Amino acid sequence: MYAYDDFDADFVRARVAEFREQVNRRIDGSLTEDEFKPLRLKNGLYLQLHAYMLRVAIPYGTLDSRQMRQLAMIAERWDKGYGHFTTRQNVQFNWPKLKDVPDILDALADVEMHAIQTSGNCIRNVTADHFAGAAADEIEDPRPTAELLRQWSTDHPEFQYLPRKFKIAITGSPNDRAVTKAHDIGLRMVRNAAGEPGYEVIVGGGLGRTPMIGKTVRDFLPKADLLPYLEAILRVYNLAGRRDNKYKARIKILVHETGTEEIRAMIEEAFAEQKALFQAPPTDLVARIEAAFAPPEFDNTQSLAFDRAQADDPVFRSFVETNVTEHRNPAYGIVSVSLKPVGGTPGDATADQMRVLADLAERYGHDELRVSHEQNIILPHVRKADIPAVHAELKKVGLATANIGLISDIIACPGMDYCALATARSIPIAQEIATHFDALKLERDIGPMKIKISGCINACGHHHVGHIGILGLDKAGVENYQITLGGDGTESATIGERTGPGFAAEDLIPAIEAIVETYLDLRHTADETFLDAYRRLGARPFKDAIYHEHRDNARAA
Ligand code: SF4
Repeated sequence: MYAYDDFDADFVRARVAEFREQVNRRIDGSLTEDEFKPLRLKNGLYLQLHAYMLRVAIPYGTLDSRQMRQLAMIAERWDKGYGHFTTRQNVQFNWPKLKDVPDILDALADVEMHAIQTSGNCIRNVTADHFAGAAADEIEDPRPTAELLRQWSTDHPEFQYLPRKFKIAITGSPNDRAVTKAHDIGLRMVRNAAGEPGYEVIVGGGLGRTPMIGKTVRDFLPKADLLPYLEAILRVYNLAGRRDNKYKARIKILVHETGTEEIRAMIEEAFAEQKALFQAPPTDLVARIEAAFAPPEFDNTQSLAFDRAQADDPVFRSFVETNVTEHRNPAYGIVSVSLKPVGGTPGDATADQMRVLADLAERYGHDELRVSHEQNIILPHVRKADIPAVHAELKKVGLATANIGLISDIIACPGMDYCALATARSIPIAQEIATHFDALKLERDIGPMKIKISGCINACGHHHVGHIGILGLDKAGVENYQITLGGDGTESATIGERTGPGFAAEDLIPAIEAIVETYLDLRHTADETFLDAYRRLGARPFKDAIYHEHRDNARAA
């Protein structure tokens, strides 16, 4: 874990004090809402459908038990007793009162957290693989890079007023768990022929109304060149990105309109200038950051507890099958805690649940927790011998749902239940799908299946890269749901293909069921995943199934 130095601590406290004054002036009426808006957005405070919403940064999704307990305290004291973990590895509080927000920010600062740059046209919270530092397939832990980028990008004077928001994601593994190809900049750690670590640099990915897979502009960038190279990309974007139309202002549009070759040449030219001016980060700073992410002291004591629990307890066995991932140390496992109980709100955790997670991290997990972009919580380092005890504790608080990667492990944005921009509901749709397939007892037979739901075209629910994507839209006052198929957010990233006309809410579940039944009927073997089957078969049989069977119900989109 990275710890703040005096500079960080002073900077965050100064921002809280400044914002406290701004809030006071809004409350006494000396600032209008229009005047206050840019000030609150600089501190992660949105005005949603029913209330303010505070978005708190969890850099690269990493936090410790002390921070998780503080989030629980905030949820209880100033909100409605829960927090919402998001696809950008942040946590959102949906019901704070404006007068309390400075106190919340002070409470966050007490545990080295803040809400700076979680909104606005700046470089947002840098995200990373949620298994970083623990994954067996990792080339290198990406978090020291993410932390360097956090320090570089926070309050960077040149990049505070970009044409639009800017998102950077990084993975240290060839298996991409950070959706790097759907970010403004995606970094994938790679090695060159000499075995040196560096980055593949991908630019111009993004979802939203114009979804695009990013383009590789450098196959290999040496680590020492990272900051001047990113500075060059941002500079090109800041100067050439469109400011005349907010829907065309993201870097993906610039890359698309300019062409990859030309953008690459522009970046390289800016990089040559930057590199001449730019001092590499001091080696002692880099060493300090790397030391902060050194692996914990692993305890390799073996025991039979794990194997015995698997043999004796089918519930534990199915939990291990879905929720435990191979760790770089064979004596350990990575435990994914699902925040998707059947019928629950994806990504929500109560204050009590947060405290249990903090206790488990402290007791069994080297005091580390992660937030995944799939809205679950990870205990990255748990000794296998302790996993049965962790599972037993999770069961007591409703956190032992064994569904990671299955059809009920749905990403859903807040949609019409909270979001001021929503055109349809997302959360109830996710709840209905999970409940329906739970009743059919088909979940394990279906196997790996990613359903992702957004309540509007902004695509916070990543529906474009869902195996089954669902986009809720308003059609003449009626909620209408478009389906996309074949999306993929991993290293083989693909934008899903729209099936055709959308469905009314009541017709959506039968349509999803028809897609799933078609897959189960047509797959070669039980091991052929939905995505593989879709890639082999194409969209036709799935379209036939949903439009022939439900033709009368499908509405023109
Ligand atoms: S996708 Fe739309 S409805 Fe959902 S959270 Fe984003 S802006 Fe709101």
